[in-house]
Amino acid sequence: MFDELDLDDALVSACQEMGYSKPTSIQQLVIPPAMDAKDILACAPTGTGKTAAFLLPAAQFLLDYPRRQPGGVRVLILAPTRELALQVHQQALSLCRFTSLKCGVITGGINYGTDRETLEETPDILVATPGRLFEHIEKESFDCREIEILILDEADRMLDMGFSAIVNQIAAEARWRKQTFLFSATLEGTGIARFASDILKDPVEVSA
Ligand code: AMP
Repeated sequence: MFDELDLDDALVSACQEMGYSKPTSIQQLVIPPAMDAKDILACAPTGTGKTAAFLLPAAQFLLDYPRRQPGGVRVLILAPTRELALQVHQQALSLCRFTSLKCGVITGGINYGTDRETLEETPDILVATPGRLFEHIEKESFDCREIEILILDEADRMLDMGFSAIVNQIAAEARWRKQTFLFSATLEGTGIARFASDILKDPVEVSA
């Protein structure tokens, strides 16, 4: 049951509202170590409940350590495609609906004016595609200094799409972060293993 995971009542209520009666297996495996400040390496394809598995502990972290003053993005989620970024954003909005946490999304295909408005609202949780986010970093319209949790969703697809250098650069920019979660449909292949070992520190490895 979600109320056995030490999550805030606001998050448990949101899960109930969304019709989640009990955590899926990947959620049961990821949420406790993620809430214990560990890095996570998760093998979890779509359909396993992976999105809530990383959103819930990230939101819990933000509720446990509220901002002392207005500032930048604290949780950054990178997703390979615009469609996935929008889906993750929707789920973040739903799961955070009973909290005061702000969620935003920036992806290619949306105009820069909209991105600017999103960034000016300084979301606590930002979902982004790597290419568009990196353009903002280069233009200095986004900085990674206050990122505390970095989450890579569908990391295998990000590698396949040729984003590994950009993601590594974003991770290097976000060097003051406390935790990193990497989710991938597969952990097979040297590419993903090297990528994970560059980005994660002593991760807990779980499989859906
Ligand atoms: P995902 O693997 O994150 O794409 O999630 C697949 C689907 O499962 C989505 O429609 C989620 O809303 C749903 N879901 C996530 N967690 C749960 C849960 N604990 N119980 C029921 N459905 C869930």
